[in-house]
Order: sequence, then C-alpha cells, then structure tokens
Amino acid sequence: MPATTYAIPLWDPPSVPIAGSNERFPVRHIFCVGRNYADHAKEMGGDAAKEPPFFFTKAADAIVPVVPPNVGRIRYPKATANLHHELELVVAIGRSAADLTPERAGECIFGYAVGLDLTRRDLQNDMREKKRPWDIGKSFAQAAPIAPIHRVSETGILAKGAITLEVNGVSRQRGDLADMIWDVAHTLAFLTKYYELLPGDLVFTGTPAGVAAVAPGDRLEGRIEGLTPLVLDIVA
Ligand code: MN
Repeated sequence: MPATTYAIPLWDPPSVPIAGSNERFPVRHIFCVGRNYADHAKEMGGDAAKEPPFFFTKAADAIVPVVPPNVGRIRYPKATANLHHELELVVAIGRSAADLTPERAGECIFGYAVGLDLTRRDLQNDMREKKRPWDIGKSFAQAAPIAPIHRVSETGILAKGAITLEVNGVSRQRGDLADMIWDVAHTLAFLTKYYELLPGDLVFTGTPAGVAAVAPGDRLEGRIEGLTPLVLDIVA
C-alpha cells in the first residue's frame, strides 16, 4: 500500500501530557456532561431531580494542555461578553467501550485530569432559548484547558475528593466528586448507550456550583484532590 498523500500538510493530533512520563495522550473526541452536580443544576435553572445525564461535545483541538510550573495562557475568546469557568474532573478513555454497565465502566478508564469546560454563556443561553444547538457556546478555540493526565494505576478509581476553583485567589467553586448526581461509572454507562467510546476520548464530568464570568487579567487555579492542579491566565 502506498502511503496516503494529503493535499494539505498533516497536523499532529491534539494531545495531553501524562504526569510522571514523557508520553502523551492523543485526544480523539471530547464528551461533556451537563448539570451533573445538584447545586449547579439549580443555579442553571433546573432542578436536582435525578434525570438521566445529557451530553454535548467539544472539538478535540479545543484542548490547551497546561503543565506546572508553567501557567497556561488563553486569549479571551471572540464573540462573547460572558465567558464562564466550569471546573471539572476529566476522565481519559484508554480502551474501546460499548454498552457498559456501571460495574464494568472502570475497565476503560486510562486516567484522570483537572480540566475547564470554558463556556461562552451568553451564546449558550441564546441558543438554549431558541432551542438551537449549544455548539458555539461550548466548542471554540481554547475552550478546554487541561492539566496532565494521571494514570488510574496511580490514582485508583476516583469517586470522592475536593474539587475547587479560585479566581485571583478567591474561592469560586467548591464541591466534592462524591456530590455528582451521576458518578463516573454511571455517566460512562449512559454515554455508551449513544456512542462507542474509543481510546483517546476525554469525558468532562460536570461542574459544581459557583460558575461565573472571568475577564482578561484573571488567574484561575483549579484543583482536584490527588491530581495536578490547573493554573491559567486569561489574557486580552
Ligand atoms: Mn460543564
């Protein structure tokens, strides 16, 4: 077989560093869960009833890997006046998985990272009111900053632990992974009813309450117990 010839230069796949390793995790798809903490569901105008989770996606090249001691830098995105932070546990998928049961969901997990589901809230709300897709509010350049991935062999299955975000040193979001409406195992089971998960997929698992606007000049510091923190500056 002759090598494939591409008409334009090929790019490297988006990838995330792996903690304690020179290897990187190539990113295929990014799935995100909406409203997975009761207090955040309330602040977004929903109730805390245990409805099945719902999902949306971001483009894989929306990731911005940030490796300490470096501080990440992202430009304030275009076309918004209301950029919101949503700090989330990110699950990295290492093996194909379809029709998972919650009991078997752990088998496809490669590892975990701290990530931000940055959201152009004004655009998202506008689309939501018009019953149009959320894409322009959720999937845009630099919309998914992420810290290094920790292998599950190092962390074990993460089911509890503090998840916190500070902006300019002031607490904005504070929760616990145990407060998820649907834990990671159930979330992956639901997700695989709709999609076959593939190696390289990332799943953003929802955010606790406290989402709010950021502006150029702000420094965001996201932490989840046991994982590398994510520190990020928003620049004009
Ligand atoms: Mn989110």
